[in-house]
Amino acid sequence: MKKCKIITRRKSNRIYVGKVPIGKNAPISVQSMTNTHTENIPETVKQILDLKKVGVDIVRVSIPNLESAKSFREIRKQVKIPLIADIHFDYRLALKSIKYGADCLRINPGNIGNKKRVSEIVNAAKDKNIPIRIGVNSGSLEKDILNKYGTPTPEALVESAIRHVEYFDSLNFNTFKVSVKSSDVFLAVEAYRILAQKIIQPLHIGITEAGGLRTGTVKSSIGLSCLLLQGIGDTIRISLAANPIEEVKVGYDILKTLSIRSRGVNFIACPTCSRQEFDVINTVNQLEKKLEDISTPIDVSIIGCIVNGIGEAKIATLGLTGGHKKSALYKDGIRQKNKIKNEEIIEQMEMQIRKIAKNKFLKK
Ligand code: SF4
Repeated sequence: MKKCKIITRRKSNRIYVGKVPIGKNAPISVQSMTNTHTENIPETVKQILDLKKVGVDIVRVSIPNLESAKSFREIRKQVKIPLIADIHFDYRLALKSIKYGADCLRINPGNIGNKKRVSEIVNAAKDKNIPIRIGVNSGSLEKDILNKYGTPTPEALVESAIRHVEYFDSLNFNTFKVSVKSSDVFLAVEAYRILAQKIIQPLHIGITEAGGLRTGTVKSSIGLSCLLLQGIGDTIRISLAANPIEEVKVGYDILKTLSIRSRGVNFIACPTCSRQEFDVINTVNQLEKKLEDISTPIDVSIIGCIVNGIGEAKIATLGLTGGHKKSALYKDGIRQKNKIKNEEIIEQMEMQIRKIAKNKFLKK
């Protein structure tokens, strides 16, 4: 199906986190963050590898103390994916993380203390040629800015960010990205919108502490869509109080929905009603699970009856339209001679999808 191309990306500088490009029209990267104890090296490594399986581009790891910094050094050795060290308050942990192989740092310069400490971090990052994310958050704004605005406002978030951007500029350090996050969708969207017009650096976008799997997904989808549709955002993180794997899946689903970046099977499925000829919900749930490992973008429609089934099947790569006892299969919009027995749908569709993914991969 022809998709409307309505998004013009905001112009920005290019930086690299490891080998992953960010900004200047690079594909919008999907990030997540481990929620294991960083000191628990095997569990943290396992979570990073699990995140990689679902397509994460970059993983952030929190470094709250010296022990976790030491563990970070080991974790760095055991995984290939770019890692960002997340630092608050203690600049020495930032210096250690750089030394131990971080591909990028996330700091909020406002809580690092004084400028001298921030400049030490910046100089160490320069030496190792790694970028930094200036991570401003409505929950941790500097006191003087909060006193000026009374409460976190979009302008307050932007003022805090610009203060740090100007300081980085004064240190001749330009390889950084910026975020101005809030758990309030309106606040975050407006802050990013204002900031996007003021700086040239890439923007890391997200709705912070968005909530549990359902509510957090809704909030993040609304907030990020508002920004992405305006061309704002170079890398994303969905913050969910849930397994971080869900953050990555939701991130891709948002990008897929906006036709920005595709990964894996995009299921088009009907909500079902009494006309359905097979159990659509169970079929889609099972197939989604079974096909998590597929990274090739494929549109697959699974529709319960002919009311909408034929129309959807005609514009999908693979389409299934429910019929009595047997359902019709469409490939690239063309109806196939052989129908699929309804009790064999899951198995047959999995096989067909894997075949298409393999062929597309070989043609690359
Ligand atoms: Fe019901 Fe058919 Fe519509 Fe699905 S496509 S919701 S089964 S009418």
